[in-house]
Amino acid sequence: MSRGHLPVAERRDVRRALLDLVRADPRAFGAALALNSLAAAAGLAGPWLLGRMIDDVRAGHGVTAVDRLALALLLCALAQLLLARWARYVGHRFGERTLARVRERFVDRALALPASVVERAGTGDLTARGTSDVTTVGNTVRDAGPVLFVNLVQALFLVAAVFLLDPLLGVLGVLGLTPIGWALRWYLRRARDGYLAEGAATSDVAEILAATAAGARTVEAFRLQERRTAASRDALETSRRTRFHTLYLRSVFFPAVEVSYVLPVAGVLVIGGALHSSGALSLGAVVAAALYLHQLSQPLDEILVRVEQLQSSGASFARVEGLARVPRAAGEGDCPDPDGDRIDVTGVRYAYDGGVEVLRGVDLTVTPGERLAVVGPSGAGKTTLSRLMAGIDAPTAGSVTVGGVPVVGLGPERLRRQVVLVTQEHRVFLGTVRDNLRIAEPGASDEELWKALAVVGADPWVRELPEGLDTPLGQGGCRTDGSQAQQLALARVVLADPHTLILDEATALLDPTTARHTERALAAVLEGRTVIAVAHRLHTAHDADRVAVMEDGRLTELGTHDELVAAGGAYAALWHSWHGDLPGERRASV
Ligand code: ADP
Repeated sequence: MSRGHLPVAERRDVRRALLDLVRADPRAFGAALALNSLAAAAGLAGPWLLGRMIDDVRAGHGVTAVDRLALALLLCALAQLLLARWARYVGHRFGERTLARVRERFVDRALALPASVVERAGTGDLTARGTSDVTTVGNTVRDAGPVLFVNLVQALFLVAAVFLLDPLLGVLGVLGLTPIGWALRWYLRRARDGYLAEGAATSDVAEILAATAAGARTVEAFRLQERRTAASRDALETSRRTRFHTLYLRSVFFPAVEVSYVLPVAGVLVIGGALHSSGALSLGAVVAAALYLHQLSQPLDEILVRVEQLQSSGASFARVEGLARVPRAAGEGDCPDPDGDRIDVTGVRYAYDGGVEVLRGVDLTVTPGERLAVVGPSGAGKTTLSRLMAGIDAPTAGSVTVGGVPVVGLGPERLRRQVVLVTQEHRVFLGTVRDNLRIAEPGASDEELWKALAVVGADPWVRELPEGLDTPLGQGGCRTDGSQAQQLALARVVLADPHTLILDEATALLDPTTARHTERALAAVLEGRTVIAVAHRLHTAHDADRVAVMEDGRLTELGTHDELVAAGGAYAALWHSWHGDLPGERRASV
């Protein structure tokens, strides 16, 4: 696959993003920390009270003393239960809010991505990041994060308690835990790369499936089934291999850890037993220390499981945050406002992804209010040129400016006031009519929306919808036909109100039954604007102020229809062949 994946965030950026998330909700985070500490402290009382009981019994104290300790034990257990539940509740609320923030930021960033980057990376990668990766991160901040937190606090308190009982036993306990540290280091060194590879392989599978499904007809027409099946199989095989690798890492790590839990308890019992016989320690202290260390296995277990989850979600978070690293187009956002409406294409060269040049030095000036038709054989570079003029992509060399400012530098908000590209694809988005229109102008009032609908002749049918502007469209909502979808798209153009429109095949594939309808709407939208039309029919070119002929990545002829016909070049040949050989209204594709 020649497609480049979207970037992945560095560890440093991931850490910073995590800190930002905590900073965004400091009170909830602080409350969760405080409640967890209190719960852990209440939990520590159990073994200590049990040790006291043993010492009391050995010292021959009565039943009342033991009963009192038992009651305290019960109360502490109850307090721990309540505090832990409260802490969990606060932690989960923090997690949910954080997840919402991660999601919103992802959507904002995805929408701000330059179209060329999305095209190059493929929608599969973006979809995989927006779905499975965000879900993984979500599970972590909502569930694993709070649990990890609780257990970390508990483990720290348990170790501290052993140190308080007897520093020597504390040192023994910590030494006994070192093999876990080794196992963890071995695992962590390999896990990030392993999980990143697994994520990338999942994206590839999603990408191949999406591309095959979207191009199913082409695949059938060219009998590419076997090749696509083989590609899918390869992607699945890679995905399987990466999954087996991470499974291997887990299957070494966890058994090693299990064994390590027993060591500190055994060590404390042996050495603590010896110390007790020599009278240096009470039996109660040894029992309490052993119980603490035994209890340690529970939070440690949770921590290690979550560390594992943290690794895979760390990789997911790095992929989600990676969107922030997509380079903005040169100087985007900080370039000055355009001075005037003139479009200048100067020495423009362009190659897709380092391939051969498809534009090889194009110079063109489009003056405000002009109607320019761009004609030429298929593959000459007409669409590529219109994409560069619409600021969707930056030229490899040379510049495309509007009012003296590079179009790619304008950013979506300012760009749509200047130049809008209208293609034959008209999308109706899931949402109300109002949502569909406000994409172009988020602050538009209902009055402005109705005005735009009236310009394109769509107000009669929108008025007849059950809830007018509030009627939901798209799947599950009200269905729109082709010409209605086109009208909505054109109404969006009216709302964006750019001074220049680039029409690429905008009317080439119109349904003949609705063509008249849409052409009328289109004519209303074009009124008073500069129009650059990639013309697929010569009669459109005939009506234009000037005609530009493109051949093999270059502009070979430029002038009015009459001038070009008189010059007797490529355009004249096309015109004569169309005009002379073909009867009246037949349309020639050039
Ligand atoms: P036209 O609109 O005149 O038919 P295009 O601008 O679509 O020409 O294409 C010009 C050349 O660029 C063609 O050779 C085409 O194969 C190539 N091309 C177009 N789009 C892409 C793309 N996304 N990736 C690589 N090459 C492309």
